[in-house]
Amino acid sequence: MINLVLFGPPGSGKGTQASKLVEKYHLIHISTGDLFRYEMGNDTPLGQQAKSYIAKGELVPDEVTIGMLRNKVEAHQDAKGFIFDGFPRTIRQAQALDALLTGIGTSVSALIALQVDDEEIVQRIKLRGASSGRPDDSDENVIRNRIEVYKNETTPVFDYYAQTGKSHSVNGIGSIAEIFGRLADIMDSL
Ligand code: ADP
Repeated sequence: MINLVLFGPPGSGKGTQASKLVEKYHLIHISTGDLFRYEMGNDTPLGQQAKSYIAKGELVPDEVTIGMLRNKVEAHQDAKGFIFDGFPRTIRQAQALDALLTGIGTSVSALIALQVDDEEIVQRIKLRGASSGRPDDSDENVIRNRIEVYKNETTPVFDYYAQTGKSHSVNGIGSIAEIFGRLADIMDSL
């Protein structure tokens, strides 16, 4: 299996690149943000639990997120591999992911971080907010809080996988095709 952690701040283009990677490498794409939005859209108990955190730009508690992720991975044990998008966002989530993958006889192959600076991110997310209907994309304070949370709680995950030589970074500025080329170069070297 090839298991990629697609990493980077909110608005860095993970979702866009994940769809292209799925086409080329036939991996199962798991976006915890998309899963939460699906649950909120259906007003499920899980969606109701997640809603207030997402509205503020805070992380949903680890036990909720990890449980949801585990169900999704276990439903696709025959996959060629996974692209994790928006997960893990804390060290605890990374440890849970490692344990889960070990349990099915595999592991994280690589983490690739898309590098985009803060001001570009704020502009991109506001633009997306104009058409996405995502309330967390329409309020600048919430956007800036998400960037802060990313720096404080999520960037340690990059260092965590760097310890085993699995972390890579690519420039996340450029055309969609250019950025995809940078990701594919790393994927093809795994
Ligand atoms: P973005 O990358 O633009 O911030 P996502 O769609 O990945 O958007 O996530 C939207 C929101 O869902 C996050 O701000 C957070 O509240 C919640 N969320 C998504 N993934 C996780 C996770 N792994 N752990 C905790 N909360 C998460």
